[in-house]
Amino acid sequence: MDTIFTKIIKGEIPCYKIAENDKFFAFLDINPLAKGHTLVVPKLQVDYIFKLEDEMLAEMMVFAKRIAAAIEANVPCERIGIAVIGLEVPHTHIHLVPINKVGDLNFANPKCKLSEEEFKEIAAKIAQSVKL
Ligand code: 5GP
Repeated sequence: MDTIFTKIIKGEIPCYKIAENDKFFAFLDINPLAKGHTLVVPKLQVDYIFKLEDEMLAEMMVFAKRIAAAIEANVPCERIGIAVIGLEVPHTHIHLVPINKVGDLNFANPKCKLSEEEFKEIAAKIAQSVKL
């Protein structure tokens, strides 16, 4: 069965897309911890990051690095925090979250409410900066 992320990758469910290549896809988290919070997912539907083949995992980190650079170029922040939770959606994904302090990467924090226009605007800016 397709996960919600596979449906997003296939274009069956809309998203605020950031970038893709042949193996990976990046899009804004719909319930972000911060403006620019992005998810990086493999197109191959594997439920748990540590079940990925070594080479795929390494390539995913390099793809995430390129996306993080584009987020950093457009969202004022100290760093891009990186987290893997995976308790809600059983399809490997890396969270890339702009942070200024350690507490900003706490998933129990209240989420950031953005309008559709704000999502579209930040997605377009980040997407424009991506250099894969
Ligand atoms: P996790 O599995 O890492 O605990 O959380 C899954 C993440 O995916 C959450 O941050 C949630 O907001 C995000 N998410 C869940 N469903 C969707 C969706 O349909 N679209 C987008 N863009 N993000 C989603």
